[in-house]
Amino acid sequence: MKQKSLLSAAFLLLIFGAMKAQDVEPHQVTEVHEPVPPVVTPGVGTAPPSDAIILFDGTDLSNWEKIDGSPAEWEVKNGVMTVVPGTGHIRTKQGFGDVQLHLEWRTPEEIKGKGQGRGNSGVFFMDQYEVQILDSYDNPTYPNGMAASVYKQTIPLVNACRKPGEWQTYDIIFMAPRFNEQGRVTHPARVTVIHNGVLVQNNVEIWGPTRFVGLPQYRKHEDRLPLRLQDHRDLVSFRNIWIREL
Ligand code: MG
Repeated sequence: MKQKSLLSAAFLLLIFGAMKAQDVEPHQVTEVHEPVPPVVTPGVGTAPPSDAIILFDGTDLSNWEKIDGSPAEWEVKNGVMTVVPGTGHIRTKQGFGDVQLHLEWRTPEEIKGKGQGRGNSGVFFMDQYEVQILDSYDNPTYPNGMAASVYKQTIPLVNACRKPGEWQTYDIIFMAPRFNEQGRVTHPARVTVIHNGVLVQNNVEIWGPTRFVGLPQYRKHEDRLPLRLQDHRDLVSFRNIWIREL
């Protein structure tokens, strides 16, 4: 014990000695000067900041394709893209790992169906981890399958859904899972979801790829994979989709 305090005293003497030699004030010891974060110009409102990758700006689907790699067939009209039921999921041509995503979505004003059959779509990170999109405005379903749930995993903290026909925002921070050489997951994926400005998933752990049936289980995959939007045969629309790699 005595030896330890002697060592600490010697260390402090050394530090203060070094400070004196360099004319460093005590408060400066804890001031870190590098790295200097790059300057980013924020967008006004929900417009993309200067370093975002624009995935959909209202003009075309050039950044998207079908799962088989053929051209995406969803409708683009008046700056909005809408699911064409039966044409299949679409995904980005580019792959992503850790990201910040902004996405705006709208379910049909005219209510058809109920539960999971009403305004269903979804955003899949890395082609496999779904944050649910659903018309959850006065539309009961299993809560771990409602809007802003990590589908069949984590229930959102609150229901922040707007009425059908109104535009809604998702701002999502997704951290990709990490795997070791043997293919075991060492750090599960994590996700934070802000729905219409309201925190609904607070850095929650993702248990594995989304499963409709059964329990999720991680499987080692690439560091970067496409972002996917789901065709669940409902007329869900999207606009202003941008992403920032972290
Ligand atoms: Mg879905």
